[in-house]
Amino acid sequence: MAEELSTKWETPLTSEQNPHIKRGRYSHLTQTDKDVLSRIVEGRACTSGKELADANIDWLRIYRGTSPLLLKPKSTWEVSKILGYCHNRNLAVVPQGGNTSLAGGSVPMFDEVIISLKLMDKIISFNNLSGALVCEAGCTLQSLMDFLDAEGYTMPYRIGPKDTCQIGGNMSTNCGGMHVVRYGSRHAAILGLEVVLADGSILDLVTTMKKDNTGYHLKHLFLGAEGTLGIITKVSLECPVKSPSQHMLFIGVPSFQDVLKIFKKAKYDLGEILSAFEVFDETVMKLINKNLKLPNPLSGESPYYMIIATAGSNRRHDDEKMNAFLSQLEKEGAIQNGFKESRAEAMKHLWSYRERIAVALKREGICYKYDITLPHEKFFDVITELRGVLHPNSPCVVGYGHLAEGDIHLNVIMPQLDKEIQEKVEGFLYPWIQNLRGSISSEHGLGIQRRDEIVYSKSPKGVEVMRKVKLTFDPKGILNPYKVLPSWMDSELTQRNLSKL
Ligand SMILES: Cc1cc2nc3c(=O)[nH]c(=O)nc-3n(C[C@H](O)[C@H](O)[C@H](O)COP(=O)(O)OP(=O)(O)OC[C@H]3O[C@@H](n4cnc5c(N)ncnc54)[C@H](O)[C@@H]3O)c2cc1C
Repeated sequence: MAEELSTKWETPLTSEQNPHIKRGRYSHLTQTDKDVLSRIVEGRACTSGKELADANIDWLRIYRGTSPLLLKPKSTWEVSKILGYCHNRNLAVVPQGGNTSLAGGSVPMFDEVIISLKLMDKIISFNNLSGALVCEAGCTLQSLMDFLDAEGYTMPYRIGPKDTCQIGGNMSTNCGGMHVVRYGSRHAAILGLEVVLADGSILDLVTTMKKDNTGYHLKHLFLGAEGTLGIITKVSLECPVKSPSQHMLFIGVPSFQDVLKIFKKAKYDLGEILSAFEVFDETVMKLINKNLKLPNPLSGESPYYMIIATAGSNRRHDDEKMNAFLSQLEKEGAIQNGFKESRAEAMKHLWSYRERIAVALKREGICYKYDITLPHEKFFDVITELRGVLHPNSPCVVGYGHLAEGDIHLNVIMPQLDKEIQEKVEGFLYPWIQNLRGSISSEHGLGIQRRDEIVYSKSPKGVEVMRKVKLTFDPKGILNPYKVLPSWMDSELTQRNLSKL
């Protein structure tokens, strides 16, 4: 993903962009701290240069911190030693995986020490009967997909930055992606975790068994916690067998009503083999054509485009189902054009249209991303209404997403950061979502970007319980501060009177 990071945009410091957020009462890193921490990861500490600069900036190049230290541990023991030291010294830290967060969660706000899991990339075990995979948190999604492929298995999820993102980051964000409709969220496949807690102690929840009802289901607390409750060092996951029969439809659809009709029909007609149901609008297709140099694979233009994928065990049976499904859609006039693809390489190419949308949009300008869950019927209304609200300023507003879960990625693309437009967008958007009891973060998490908007999707009691959970796991607030929980809690979470602890 290195090419995606080359842009002329000079990212301003997050602290300067958000003067209302004050640095917590953490210790400032001294030379002695640097020496002690660097010795733990002998030869794998970084105090200057491009690697440190890149680790301070998020993928969207909207958030930038000023961490003076990047540590790259190679073992749980090293992570434990680092956190133990930081806890004693009251030093704040940011766990970092592939740094592909779209919510500013993976980079420091101020000078937090960055702990990168990238060198913890070993596969520990795989059971070819149960499909239980145990690996270190820094394994990239692609490396696990490749490993499992040779075993006749696959990962139960797929997201765009698979070469870079890591399984630890995927669990910490509870990432979604293309196959939630088939395999469920990360909560469905997780078997166990190993987590280093804020004080450096190691919580071993690794198991390869599926069932375990011995009390609270602790591992689930860390999914979606975005590194605020502990650092995940190992993951145990149940992986499905690789389907020998995979097919894909790429179709152009005349209206959103037709998109919904096709969704319902796919659930009935494709049933258990349906594995992905993706949709994007015509502006997205134009930006893919322009910024990725990928031509529209269909012969004509349409207002909406869809990728529908299936994964099953019987090629002939699935082939017949997909052919019948496609010809019925044509007969009913629900699509303008489209085709079926079953060749592995050709499908991989078509997936790149969907998986690289974020890259295509980023090349257009500064991209404000809103990743929201809405009732299916309202999926694209939000785009139309927002375009109305923003007129005559008219930044580019586009939408795409995982329709099966009602998860739309709404993007507002601007030539430069524009706080006024951002406020206008959010002033309309968040109450709109709340009215529908939707979610302001479907799968990207809250990070820095959406922490204060949590109230639009969680009740005050819900936020209060989260605060108590945070204080239980991380009483000094050293783990990924200024993220997830709202800024008005900062004074308690990051500036506590340490003498009382
Ligand atoms: C092009 C593109 C497409 C994307 N598509 C999708 C998509 O379809 N669905 C989706 O859900 N997301 C998507 N994302 C967002 C992102 O890739 C996911 O959130 C991903 O799971 C992050 O993994 P990462 O390893 O890069 O984590 P990072 O970005 O490094 O970190 C994410 C968060 O997790 C924490 N963290 C990382 N590793 C650990 C660890 N070991 N222990 C504890 N905390 C940790 C960080 O502190 C941070 O808060 C996309 C991003 C890009 C750039």
